[in-house]
Amino acid sequence: PRPDLRNDPSPSTATLKAVDLAHHLHPFTDHQELRGDGGARVIASGKGCYLTDTEGARLLDGMGGLWCVNIGYGRPELAEVAARQMQELPYYNSFFKTTMPATVQLAEDLAALTPEGLNRAFFSNSGSEANDTNIRIARMYWQKQGQPDRTVIVSRNLAYHGSTIAAASLTGLASMHDIPGIPIPDIVHAPAPFWWANGGDMSPEEFGLQAARGLEETILAVGPERVAAFIGEPVQGAGGVIVPPSTYWPEVQRICRKYGILLIVDEVICGFGRTGRWFGSQTFDIAPDIMTVAKGMSSGYLPISASIVHDRVAEVVFDGPGRFPHGYTYSGHPVAAAVARENIAIMKREGVVERVGGDIGPYFQERLATLLDHELVGEVRGVSLMAAVELTRDKKGRSAVEPLGGLATPVRNACFENGLTTRAVRDCLVFSPPLVISRAEVDELVSILRRSLDQQLK
Ligand code: PMP
Repeated sequence: PRPDLRNDPSPSTATLKAVDLAHHLHPFTDHQELRGDGGARVIASGKGCYLTDTEGARLLDGMGGLWCVNIGYGRPELAEVAARQMQELPYYNSFFKTTMPATVQLAEDLAALTPEGLNRAFFSNSGSEANDTNIRIARMYWQKQGQPDRTVIVSRNLAYHGSTIAAASLTGLASMHDIPGIPIPDIVHAPAPFWWANGGDMSPEEFGLQAARGLEETILAVGPERVAAFIGEPVQGAGGVIVPPSTYWPEVQRICRKYGILLIVDEVICGFGRTGRWFGSQTFDIAPDIMTVAKGMSSGYLPISASIVHDRVAEVVFDGPGRFPHGYTYSGHPVAAAVARENIAIMKREGVVERVGGDIGPYFQERLATLLDHELVGEVRGVSLMAAVELTRDKKGRSAVEPLGGLATPVRNACFENGLTTRAVRDCLVFSPPLVISRAEVDELVSILRRSLDQQLK
């Protein structure tokens, strides 16, 4: 018989797994493999940096959900704010000359928090939708400037910008392009500043300049007069926490300015404290025309994202005659906005970002770097509370593991068994713990990771 939950007030884990397999389609999942594993692990609750599954196992969440639970799980203030806003006004739209107090307040908070000139917020629900919005803002900008042929968006290999058709086109991970129809026209990819894989004998600094030159070559191949914008994550996250060499961003910005190309900085992961400052743009000294934020803005408690637009772009696109024909039913959703506001208020009140930059971020990097003595660890890279541990059987030559992921996937599975969530990206494991992680929890994370690495040596 088919598993059934409908008359089962306290279903067993086995029933939940069976119904999940029968009815729930998972994102980015090989369902045959999931079935072979006996189904998904059922996560029941979270507190601070820990998750608990329905079988009572406790997991230290090395990924902060999906790079997003910055404030940690189980903050009652966020639940209370959401409940209050739901009773006051659960929903309204901002399409037809209406607005909501929580939405207005969040837009003002964002203007105050973000770098100089980034003063106008267009809200969406996810990072993908915000990046779709950005493409439309950039193209409308050039149309209104009398250059309607400037429609090409330059992204990069190994970028992750989302999963809608347009955002997946921006994404530079080959596996995302397995479904036909991607990329859509007028999106091209420049090289990633990924020294470990592509730097060869160059120093990281030389390689950073070469990667930036690759962007210039891409722009010249398209024709600068056709390029609307360049989009980049300060640190490429889902691509494997690729921290660009110090020479990279200054050169990229010089190139964008040289050809008058708009700079879109995707802060979906880096934003809201992850790199030790409020925004990755501050950590890497980048001056965006448009900034994408999501995830950490609400610590993932409710979905909300924004395109934060610089005055010089907003004046062209939004302040002249005519409307901007784009938006979502839930743009500026008042409950999500109220929760995001409270999340930001808590982070300010508790000095969360200062602690990440000044204490726990450097401590995390220092402790992870102790793994470099392990025979399977080639590189530990990261900034503050985002990191990758690159696994290898060839520390000197930095060649890829055969088969790809042949080390990272078993280590990831071992970490889960040993009580730590992480994610395998090619040959590396990536980490993005809640920003409230303690030193003792960092020690635990590193010790579980070492044990899981050791288990591969037997
Ligand atoms: N941009 C970046 C940098 C991301 O990391 C992600 C999600 N991992 C997205 C965009 C897409 O966000 P969402 O999944 O909310 O659509």
